[in-house]
Amino acid sequence: MSADCIFCKIVAGSIPSTKVYEDADTIAFMDINPVVKGHTLVIPKKHCDQLMLMPPDLLQKVILVTQKIAHAHINGLNAIGLNIAQANGKVAGQIVPHVHFHVIPRFDIDEHERRWHPGKYDNIEEMNQFAEKIRKAVH
Ligand code: AMP
Ligand code: ZN
Repeated sequence: MSADCIFCKIVAGSIPSTKVYEDADTIAFMDINPVVKGHTLVIPKKHCDQLMLMPPDLLQKVILVTQKIAHAHINGLNAIGLNIAQANGKVAGQIVPHVHFHVIPRFDIDEHERRWHPGKYDNIEEMNQFAEKIRKAVH
């Protein structure tokens, strides 16, 4: 538990949340400012700032609960699709530094349809340079 972390406080029950699922390692609760109504957050109970710091077995549990919530959006809310998003670091837009997966139900083609704008490499060599750095670092 991290003393200043709002999601740790939700886990501890010291601030309120609207939970939709809980097990020994994870909880899922409603996002208070939904991008689309039904927007749900899935978190590990144990505090971890970022996905890269999570023990793999815990990450596995959290992603499986994320899938469970996705099914519940389809079956319970009649969503016809959904977005799953997860940010790591301020530069990526992470506001709450406790790992969380956003599950955002989608009902229509609307202004949320596309959040990112596709870009371009200068040329194929530039893409290959990025690819080579990633290949060398994957293990
Ligand atoms: P991120 O920008 O990925 O860190 O997302 C943080 C999310 O947490 C935002 O979508 C907020 O609306 C949501 N949030 C912040 N505080 C609470 C809270 N007390 N209960 C539920 N959701 C929250
Ligand atoms: Zn925390």
